[in-house]
Amino acid sequence: MWLVVLGVGAISVGIYLRSFRRRRADDRVRLARTRELGMDRAQGQYPLVNAGACIGCGTCVAACPEGDVLGIVMGKAVVINGARCIGHGKCAEACPVGGIEVGLGDVTKRDDIPLLDDHHQTSVPGVWVAGELSGFALINNAVAQGRRAVERIAAAGGPRSGSADLLDVVVVGAGPAGMSAALVAGEHDLSCAVLDQQGAGGTILQYPRRKLVMVQPVEIPRYGRLERHEYRKEELLAIWEDLHAHYDLDIRTGVRVTGVTGALGGFTAATSAGDLRARHVVLALGRRGTPRRLNVPGEDLAKVAYQLMDAEAYAGRRVLVVGGGDSAVEAAMGLAHQEGCEVVLSYRKPELLRIKQRNADRIGPLVASGTIDFRGGTTVQSIHDDRIVLDGPGGAAIVPNDDVFILAGGIPPFGFLREIGVRFGGDQPDIAGAAQGVRPA
Ligand SMILES: Cc1cc2nc3c(=O)[nH]c(=O)nc-3n(C[C@H](O)[C@H](O)[C@H](O)COP(=O)(O)OP(=O)(O)OC[C@H]3O[C@@H](n4cnc5c(N)ncnc54)[C@H](O)[C@@H]3O)c2cc1C
Repeated sequence: MWLVVLGVGAISVGIYLRSFRRRRADDRVRLARTRELGMDRAQGQYPLVNAGACIGCGTCVAACPEGDVLGIVMGKAVVINGARCIGHGKCAEACPVGGIEVGLGDVTKRDDIPLLDDHHQTSVPGVWVAGELSGFALINNAVAQGRRAVERIAAAGGPRSGSADLLDVVVVGAGPAGMSAALVAGEHDLSCAVLDQQGAGGTILQYPRRKLVMVQPVEIPRYGRLERHEYRKEELLAIWEDLHAHYDLDIRTGVRVTGVTGALGGFTAATSAGDLRARHVVLALGRRGTPRRLNVPGEDLAKVAYQLMDAEAYAGRRVLVVGGGDSAVEAAMGLAHQEGCEVVLSYRKPELLRIKQRNADRIGPLVASGTIDFRGGTTVQSIHDDRIVLDGPGGAAIVPNDDVFILAGGIPPFGFLREIGVRFGGDQPDIAGAAQGVRPA
């Protein structure tokens, strides 16, 4: 009896060790591959592993909701697929030895992270950055940063403007960071306008209909704590709308800010609706920037769009989705589930390598079954009323088409910040400290 128990135990341990060793060998291969593709680097906050503390147990690897951000190489946790990290921080929570912090790392190497002081003021006094533009993704960080910047403006005092021509604060961007900033400004009797080139809600507005949004503990100014961990997109937007109406926030949508000049106490924001003057400017632009265009003939046709809001409206249509990231893949899958919708997904690279593991797992069978016609290694040559022309390894292909979604990412707003005079991590290695990189939002 004992011999049987020992035998079964030994076999189980052997199987476990073999699969453990195989996984570790896979991790080494994955790391080499993601380095080659430049996907090991994260865009925003990511796990900073203290190699001295790490015991290589793999708890962090298993805890990651995105699947394959971390791996174990040479007995230590390493970031393998940084581009897929969205900064949940579950790895840090799960690590049994406290060997992971979530942050931006050494920002002196980053040309995409603006230098900020502890209150989110940039190198230009009176210009503040809040939200994802700072490098920290997630709604809770955006809300906290919008609050912190405006609380500092209020605490710093100085004469309130008291003039209709000069606001105390102009906020650029009506996402979670900008809304939070406006709510706090109202709380402190600061006159404030929020300008957004699109509608109020920021990136949340662009999420697919009824998307479940994961919300980590967050305290919305003048509203209170969001009690649940998950909300539908529409529920979150309804909360913002109620606050907007209740506190009579001055939110001006469809207004694009093209530049900011001046100095603390007297900035001018140049906008598509004329100039606006303010003592302080809070930049809550996010990082998505302006949608990337293909610059091909026919791109100005009404059937071309840069975001998908309501997949159901495309039942029975022939749709082309352009792009190879998560947004493009999620749109293609959403469309493919609509009755009679024929979906072609065109991507300039032969394979979909930049997407989350769970998207890769879901789209694979749809492509294999022909539900999504994936055309890897193709580019759009021209768009016409009833067709598109794709260029690919086999030459030009004419594809019948009703609608086109170009979901090829955005041009980030870093040039806009540089024109204002904002300095970035990589500009000033002597000032940018690692402290900015690990500070919790
Ligand atoms: C598909 C997807 C799913 C996500 N899921 C989650 C999730 O489940 N949980 C979570 O916490 N986070 C999630 N996020 C991340 C979250 O949405 C962002 O971190 C958050 O919205 C950032 O808020 P923000 O206010 O900094 O910027 P944004 O929400 O990006 O808002 C920026 C606003 O600035 C405006 N703007 C930009 N430039 C200008 C200009 N020049 N003039 C005027 N207006 C301008 C834009 O129109 C936009 O409305 C997700 C993101 C994506 C893309």
